[in-house]
Amino acid sequence: MALDGVLPWHADTWQQLVRLADEGRMPHAILLSGAHGVGKQQLAEALITRTLCAKPGASACGHCHSCSMLASGYHPDLLRVSPEEGKRQIRIDPIREVNRFVSQTAQQGGYRVIVVSPAESMNVAAANALLKSLEEPGANTLFILLADVPSRMLPTIRSRCQQWPLSSVAFEACRGWLIEKLGGQDEAHFWWRVSGGLPLLAVELASPDERALRHQIHDSFEQLVRGAEPVSEAARLDRQAIDAILWYGIAWLEDLIRLGISGDASALHNPDLESLYRQAVKNGRVQDWFRLLDYAREQRRLLAVGANPNPQLVLEAWLVRWAALLRS
Ligand SMILES: [Zn+2]
Repeated sequence: MALDGVLPWHADTWQQLVRLADEGRMPHAILLSGAHGVGKQQLAEALITRTLCAKPGASACGHCHSCSMLASGYHPDLLRVSPEEGKRQIRIDPIREVNRFVSQTAQQGGYRVIVVSPAESMNVAAANALLKSLEEPGANTLFILLADVPSRMLPTIRSRCQQWPLSSVAFEACRGWLIEKLGGQDEAHFWWRVSGGLPLLAVELASPDERALRHQIHDSFEQLVRGAEPVSEAARLDRQAIDAILWYGIAWLEDLIRLGISGDASALHNPDLESLYRQAVKNGRVQDWFRLLDYAREQRRLLAVGANPNPQLVLEAWLVRWAALLRS
């Protein structure tokens, strides 16, 4: 049965959360973690709405006063904390606001819900300030923390939350949903593979702009194999898309490693790139792919925390390294 706002592949997780709430065993802090595109936000929204709803059933009722307020975009017992516009970090000031919020009584007489997203973007001062509220949250308080990469959070924050890791999704579990979004079985399956089993990401990647970007990166890599100059290939790519470019590079390296180790193409996430991979596997060595993978992951991490000021240089260095491996 389809539940309002709950993605079909999260139906079981949702049932477990509902049971906790109905049995009065809801923890005071929940960490929903999983890669971008797994649907954390949707699950969090369903949980926020149901927690604040005055007459919750299988999901929120949709028409009580709380549900109406939420639908209109404001609820006095809900506080959302995210980085300021254009910033990457959550600083201490909004967390002080959280501590104040938690010390007050819920205005609607029910739960107070605090959502911190992405939780790994709290700087150390903010995270330390949040610890106090996480330790003594008071009754009827629910913290929902969302994180793509929970390992980047302070361990003391993680350990005070009940952890709900959301893993990538089997095709069967999201097949119907993806077909509805993407139009056909082949499309759905292809983009599900490319996304690595992350249905919302699959839909994003299938959009015209993202397809064009993927096509362009693929073309640049083909040019590199044919001996093009990596710095000029880097100039053709959009530096604003550096994170997506690194993401693709990482996915392709993982494919290469799969192919290099097993020789089996059936598990590739990007089956349309097999000929490029074959070329690369012929030239490179698996340990070099692993080294490049570490490099790309580290660059993505640095970009995420705002520690890398020059995306153009990252892009150039990245393509220079790829070119060296593709032609070695
Ligand atoms: Zn309601």
